[in-house]
Order: sequence, then structure tokens, then C-alpha cells
Amino acid sequence: MKWKEFFRRDLRRRALLAEAQVVPETERCVQCGICSFYCPVGIDVRAYAWQNRPVQNSHCITCGECVARCPRGVLRFEPIQPGEGRP
Ligand code: SF4
Ligand code: SF4
Repeated sequence: MKWKEFFRRDLRRRALLAEAQVVPETERCVQCGICSFYCPVGIDVRAYAWQNRPVQNSHCITCGECVARCPRGVLRFEPIQPGEGRP
């Protein structure tokens, strides 16, 4: 990968990190736990899905692994609204 492309990707990732969070669609979740299993920083995404809460966790690096791995398409990225934050 060329340096310019690397920095472009890094900037996109940082923009997403600052502006987006993982949001579940609880009704579709079957509590399989695959999302939690694949989260590289050990966040229990399944529990957020169970509680119908966005993944507001300061350890989230917005890698998208949970979104990509969920077999039911339960998870998606949504913009963080003003006033919402990561504890
Ligand atoms: S991978 Fe999808 S269906 Fe399984 S627990 Fe996570 S959100 Fe629910
Ligand atoms: S986006 Fe990545 S770091 Fe954040 S909860 Fe999902 S798998 Fe974990």
C-alpha cells in the first residue's frame, strides 16, 4: 500500500471513530455472541445488543469487526448525536 493511501484510510478510520458508534437492532439478535467473540478489545457487544443500547464504550476502536461478523446483520454504524458520548 502506498503511503498516501495509508494516510487516507487512517483519516477515514479516525473520522468514523470520532463520529460513529455501533448500534444494534435488538429484535433481530439471537444472542449467539459471535460479535463479542471477534471484538479485538474484548467488548461484550452481545450484552449491548441484549439491552438495545449503542456500544458506547471508550475502548471501541470502530474496527467494524462485530458489524461484519454478525450473521443476522443486527449491527450497524450510526453517527453519534450531539450530547451522546463514550463513557
Ligand atoms: S453476532 Fe449478531 S446475532 Fe449474534 S449476539 Fe451479536 S448482535 Fe446478536
Ligand atoms: S467496532 Fe470493533 S472494537 Fe468496536 S465493538 Fe465492534 S468489534 Fe469491538
